[in-house]
Amino acid sequence: MSEHARKMPIAILIKCIRGIFQCWFHDRHNKALNLTMLLSPWAINLLSTWFNEACHFSTQLIDRVEFQVIGGTKDKVVNLSTKTCSCSQFQIDLLPCTHAMVAISLGSKCKHVAIEFCSNYYKTRSWVEGYAIPVHPVGHHNALVQIAQLGIPV
Ligand SMILES: [Zn+2]
Repeated sequence: MSEHARKMPIAILIKCIRGIFQCWFHDRHNKALNLTMLLSPWAINLLSTWFNEACHFSTQLIDRVEFQVIGGTKDKVVNLSTKTCSCSQFQIDLLPCTHAMVAISLGSKCKHVAIEFCSNYYKTRSWVEGYAIPVHPVGHHNALVQIAQLGIPV
């Protein structure tokens, strides 16, 4: 915290923080509205990286939804039905890991696309909804004092 901020009364500090949030919500909501992709750019970049790494692996079908991914330091087992991988990254991140990308992209019986295995958290629609409610100015603190004196809950 800067020396200037330490000298600020708490109400002004909170007003500054509210203003920062107001800008962030507005900017991020507009950015999300202008996206044409179904996933956030961050998630797309990550999946692209993992998809490129997936080229170094091979896969064997265990059954209709389970795959053994061969390569790397240790073979992994991916279950696309339960969205799990023995590396645990798939179930922790709620995004397909490199092994799951192998199963999704190279599995000859699998006709799914990677976005079906991504959590809604990474989808642009969730991003838009998350910033849809704008942060409004509070107004002058005297108005809040008058409201408090009337006993009206704020
Ligand atoms: Zn994995």
